[in-house]
Amino acid sequence: YRSAVVRRAVFLPRHCRPLQGIVFKDIFPVFQDSTAVEALITNFVYHVSSTHTEKVDVVVGLDARGFLFGPLIALRLGAAFVPVRKQGKLPGETVSTVYAKEYGEDIFELQKSAIKAGQRAIIVDDLIATGGSAKAAGELVRKAGGKTVEYLFVMELSFLNGAAKLDAPSYSLVKLD
Ligand code: 5GP
Repeated sequence: YRSAVVRRAVFLPRHCRPLQGIVFKDIFPVFQDSTAVEALITNFVYHVSSTHTEKVDVVVGLDARGFLFGPLIALRLGAAFVPVRKQGKLPGETVSTVYAKEYGEDIFELQKSAIKAGQRAIIVDDLIATGGSAKAAGELVRKAGGKTVEYLFVMELSFLNGAAKLDAPSYSLVKLD
């Protein structure tokens, strides 16, 4: 994982150790300032409303920090919020997909009944790095019968070019080179 807390390396197997020189971009300080949260959500909602003439039905948030922004955006858009979670967390019938992480693979799931055929979805996360997680979420929306119309990120590590992997346009508030 991208944590800069190098002491974690002591407890993690070799394939899970943080890469030296990679600094974890922490989103949580934003939530210490309600004005900043308001500005951030308003920016996303303005962007979506001015870009998409057709209604957005569903906002999909990625486990776990996508859950911080997804419901707030969904509420403002009058859309549903649907979580994508790591394997085994969601009850009922799910669609699932394997995705590549920096260290190995993981499985994402989405509740099958949460998206109806033809529904238009926006996928939200705090940060896009390689694009593997967001791409997997896009696959889940498609497997559930929906269509992803855009991806939203607070931060984008542009030098990793993750947005190029996605099947719809993406919008990031902050691009980091
Ligand atoms: P990707 O799949 O694009 O390589 O990685 C993005 C996913 O990993 C997102 O769910 C994001 O929350 C998490 N992630 C990876 N690196 C960072 C980071 O530096 N800061 C934060 N906040 N999340 C990260």
